[in-house]
Amino acid sequence: MKFCFDTKEFIEWDIQPNKLAVIGDDFVLTWEQFNTRVQALCEEFVAHGIHQTQRPVMVYGHKSANMLVAFYAMMKLEIAYIPLDKFYPKERLEKIARISKSEIVINTTAWPLQIDNITEILVEETKTSRVQKAEVSVQVKKLADPLVYIIFTSGSTGEPKGVQISSEAVQSFTRWMSSDFGFGSKDVFVNTAVLSFDLSVFEVMTFGKLGATLLLNNKEQTSDPNVLIPRIKKYQGSIWVSTPSFTLIYSRIKNETRLNSIHTFLFCGEVLANDLANKLMENYPKARVLNTYGPTEATVATTLVEITPELIDSHTSLPVGVSQPESRLLIENGEIIIVGPNVSKGYTNNEILNAEKFVTINNQRAFKTGDQGYLEKGMLFFTGRNDDLVKLHGYRIELNEISSAINKLTYVVQGETIALKRNGSVKKIVSLVKVNGNETITVAQIKQDISAILPPYMIPSDIKFLEEIPLSQNGKADKKLLTELYMKR
Ligand code: AMP
Repeated sequence: MKFCFDTKEFIEWDIQPNKLAVIGDDFVLTWEQFNTRVQALCEEFVAHGIHQTQRPVMVYGHKSANMLVAFYAMMKLEIAYIPLDKFYPKERLEKIARISKSEIVINTTAWPLQIDNITEILVEETKTSRVQKAEVSVQVKKLADPLVYIIFTSGSTGEPKGVQISSEAVQSFTRWMSSDFGFGSKDVFVNTAVLSFDLSVFEVMTFGKLGATLLLNNKEQTSDPNVLIPRIKKYQGSIWVSTPSFTLIYSRIKNETRLNSIHTFLFCGEVLANDLANKLMENYPKARVLNTYGPTEATVATTLVEITPELIDSHTSLPVGVSQPESRLLIENGEIIIVGPNVSKGYTNNEILNAEKFVTINNQRAFKTGDQGYLEKGMLFFTGRNDDLVKLHGYRIELNEISSAINKLTYVVQGETIALKRNGSVKKIVSLVKVNGNETITVAQIKQDISAILPPYMIPSDIKFLEEIPLSQNGKADKKLLTELYMKR
């Protein structure tokens, strides 16, 4: 069976057509069915003359098999897709449509989205329908290195920013994934992250490159080990992909429920603590624990290391790995710079930030990560951030984006957001707010109002009211004092 993976690469595998390709939260597709559906969606685009749009197409849903059908159809048509999880509030979706200048959304849920001026293609299990809202602009111009996807991450100005990843970057990433990780076509990738986060790109791209199987797990399944564990056992999941935080509860699981089919725990996105690695190695002696590091701006991950008992014994903070073969790491004034083909072409329609964060080094794209670290014989160690970007339960959050949403509320005079840390990792995000004196405002009301703008994982767990927000010498909010004030109350 021959299948087109990504925009450039045709792959031919000796693959049984009835082998499982995608196990969605709703239905399951064999490789033959997956191939047929991808083809059908491409034909749908061609039939309506919108296959030559130069604009990215949004793909909306959660963990349905059709999300994957839509991603692979867009890859085949060389149209960039923007994965959007259904937990995003509508206002955020509209913002993303505006920033990316997108004109089409492929909706894989059963409920129409109805965004102004956006043509909606509803893809259900057996049928596809279309609601045309406005003209879709088409051009016939094939690019040498087309964009494959745009993933939106939190932005410090209050606006999410779209990281553009091109075909060259995806190819570089999947070449590395299919050579240095020891994965093969028999593997079943266990997905845990939502498809709008780049952690999920590990399995979304690699299962296609290898002709393997992808097990998607929805929110209800991932939030309850009693549901997820039998599901993984049923489908014989072999590669676990998650943030370290997600795995915490699973590392303590007792003998009888252990996941014996898992041969690799693959981590990315936040610090992998010695304790967690140790516990997994004790409980799953036959499995490998892999730590990887990288920002969305450099296609999921750039470094890899297999954690061994010797590494755990000799380091209080585990290394994050050595660079993938096609990329290079530089350290400038303590900041990690990634150079290579896996680096993004920049944020979509954001030239100011691009000039600040993306540079060219020896004719190659390079990204200034904002991460601090050092290299020891090629091995990278991560030591922290040089700004207000934090990771909470694996989610990437700019504290300023939360403050900015709070500051948009008419009754707020000033709002600031801080992250409370223990042992170097973020435990809680809280906001401190000064409201107009004559207003009676509750914490619940603020949370409700900002949830119209921010996704659920960005809502601060607590909000305290202050009469005045303390400022430091430079006129900015004094975060240290704010932390002290919060702890005192
Ligand atoms: P994201 O774009 O959501 O993948 O987040 C990227 C950021 O997560 C990086 O810039 C780092 O700050 C952090 N990060 C990613 N991988 C690791 C890791 N293995 N250890 C520590 N921090 C990490």
